[in-house]
Amino acid sequence: MASPANLKIMRNIGVMAHIDAGKTTTTERILYYTKKVHRLGEVHEGTAVMDWMPQEQERGITITAAATTCFWKEHRINIIDTPGHVDFTIEVERSLRVLDGAIAVFCAVGGVEPQSETVWRQADKYHVPRVAYINKMDRVGADFQAVVAEIRSKLKANAVPIQLPIGAEDSFSGLVDLISMKAFGWGGERGDELLELSIPEAMSDDVVGARATLMDAITSLDDKLAEKFIMEQPISEAEILAALRSGTIASKIVPVVCGASFKNIGVQPLLDAVIAFLPSPLDLPAVKGHDVNNLDTILERKPADDEPFAALAFKIASDSFSGTIAFLRVYSGTLDLGKPVQNASKKKKEKIGKLLLMHANKREEVQRVSTGEIVAAIGLRFTSTGDTLCSEDHPILLEKMDFPEPVISIAIEPKTQADTDKLKKSLDVMMLEDPTFRVTTHEDTGQMLISGMGELHLEIIRDRLLREFRVDANVGSPQVSYRESVSDAGSGDSTVERLMAGKNHFGQVTLRISPRARGAGFEFVNQCSFQKIPEKYIGSIRQGVIEALDAGVFAGFPIVDCQVILIDGSFREADSSEIAFKIASTLAFRAACEKAKPVLLEPIMSCEIVTPDECMGEIIGDLNGRRGRILNMISRSGVQVIRSEVPLKEMFGYSTHLRSMSQGRASYSMEPARYDLVAPAIAKEIRFRITGIE
Ligand code: GDP
Ligand code: MG
Repeated sequence: MASPANLKIMRNIGVMAHIDAGKTTTTERILYYTKKVHRLGEVHEGTAVMDWMPQEQERGITITAAATTCFWKEHRINIIDTPGHVDFTIEVERSLRVLDGAIAVFCAVGGVEPQSETVWRQADKYHVPRVAYINKMDRVGADFQAVVAEIRSKLKANAVPIQLPIGAEDSFSGLVDLISMKAFGWGGERGDELLELSIPEAMSDDVVGARATLMDAITSLDDKLAEKFIMEQPISEAEILAALRSGTIASKIVPVVCGASFKNIGVQPLLDAVIAFLPSPLDLPAVKGHDVNNLDTILERKPADDEPFAALAFKIASDSFSGTIAFLRVYSGTLDLGKPVQNASKKKKEKIGKLLLMHANKREEVQRVSTGEIVAAIGLRFTSTGDTLCSEDHPILLEKMDFPEPVISIAIEPKTQADTDKLKKSLDVMMLEDPTFRVTTHEDTGQMLISGMGELHLEIIRDRLLREFRVDANVGSPQVSYRESVSDAGSGDSTVERLMAGKNHFGQVTLRISPRARGAGFEFVNQCSFQKIPEKYIGSIRQGVIEALDAGVFAGFPIVDCQVILIDGSFREADSSEIAFKIASTLAFRAACEKAKPVLLEPIMSCEIVTPDECMGEIIGDLNGRRGRILNMISRSGVQVIRSEVPLKEMFGYSTHLRSMSQGRASYSMEPARYDLVAPAIAKEIRFRITGIE
């Protein structure tokens, strides 16, 4: 159980990076050196332990953030594997939400790639302390100092090397530790043996310079050390480590280490750095949450076993043996198996059947979980991603996670009619697991639509249907999830006067809609006096607008970025009702929209293409044909990097097309940037295609 001593030796970390930087390869090494696995899995052989979904092994990418525990030098490290592919941005986001610290992996050749920037910004948002690991030092073009400079300039991070590589590319063989001032090489078949070497003479100037930079960085963080430094008193290794630790935890410094995971170089010192610099749960401030009965009241839970139990369900997975598995991060208190627990988000009592420590697809049963732990719980019935579980006597609602809206959807139907129910149930399970995945059924036609973050996301859903749930489904072609807004101000008025169930219902509402800035969202303002409409009806009027936002007047897409003002209205003491005001409000809103010049918005993707020089002309020409806007082009060791913004609609099937334009040599990555106006002519075409209205 987690006594303070146990908490002190715990590290909850994630490994984050651009796709292909080497997260999986590095994690495999970590598990190997910490004796969790006895053979090394390789990504390209499809045997990596962390990539445990069959789809991941086939595609060589990591989709699921599996949690796993390992031990290093009397410390317990819980690793949450975070994926790099942007279609799974939610996986990154939810792991960052529960991590205490992270290893940021960079490729020594590629440096800071755009997805690294995205993930880095996400980590900033959640205040996750980081250690930077510059991997692939063995590759042609590897440049340690250039990547450090990029981390400083592009990510605005105070990146400070605590190691220098010995050699680079083919000759990369070890490293100099700038804290202990010792050099290391690697021996043994799997790099199991760490060999102490003498610092190569040719490096001595560089080492002196890098050590001075390091001392400069830590003395500027710590006044006492600065004083010692000025007085020319010796500063011990322990003092350097302590200053780096507190600086890292305060996110004032990012220690930089390096290696070549694939060549089994550098991973053990990386583990040392995790322990030395990344926080334990005790180093974190108390977690904040809301009082369930009065959301305005903020409650705190300190990271200690004697506090009331509070945990966040940060991921739900389904499994053919166990059913639904909820991954929990325990922030305070303990939970014993079999004891009831409160789901504060759903206001339901839950019971946990099994508690498991996860090692990728293997597991170890435990009877109790304590503060700081990351565990899998089986048997929860109502819990979905983002829910708070807590002690019944001391309920608390922890801060929710933000989930992005899906940008793409596909119609889906079962191959055989008999599978209809099974398809619905399977999709429901996946929706519980993945808050960026949605299923909607068309009211009139009964047609089912699945929506997600990109083509690959939905492709994988379909794949899982077939493999895990054994439902074969036909899918349509992908459709962009459009939005609507207004481009002008407009007012609408509606009076509802109806006889329903023997009672008269009356309500009259005048609303005014006006556009807000892109991304500003929806706002409701009441400017009508309480003499005209009593306060008790305002909630229904607001609700009427919110429901009407679901389907716009232009082509039936959700309406965003607008302000709605209740400017006037009237009521009758005898017959006014909430339902009448709600209906009047919906009708008035639609009338106002019609007058406010409705517009169509489409998702714009930011896209980065890496291509050999020869293919550049054709790729740019093709991008222009796709309504793409080139932002910039940079040449980088023999390749061109093209950054652009392109409407998602034009990018369907792009991977196949890019492959054929470049004979498979170019690659690209893409992520949603924002919603933007569709030109009126194109908007009309889209409306015609969808609604049949000219
Ligand atoms: P991830 O997408 O970040 O999980 O990256 P992977 O671990 O899947 O690695 C991507 C590719 O880079 C794989 O083919 C690895 O074998 C390769 N790789 C990983 N680390 C190194 C390294 O240190 N040196 C070299 N040369 N290749 C590496
Ligand atoms: Mg991977």
